[in-house]
Amino acid sequence: MAQHIHKCTSCGTYTMNEECPGCQGKTILPQPAKFSIPDKYGKYRREARKEELKKKGLY
Ligand SMILES: [Zn+2]
Repeated sequence: MAQHIHKCTSCGTYTMNEECPGCQGKTILPQPAKFSIPDKYGKYRREARKEELKKKGLY
């Protein structure tokens, strides 16, 4: 693995950049086992998702 795939903590997009190309959110390097993503990131994702649905009138 020569390349590092970052994952956006806001929308979950995978990117080569440290900044998400979609939402300009902060990205992290997903690590197996020894590094587990704090649950708060999942919460942010769910909140963002909820807001998205609200805008579309689906929530
Ligand atoms: Zn993003």
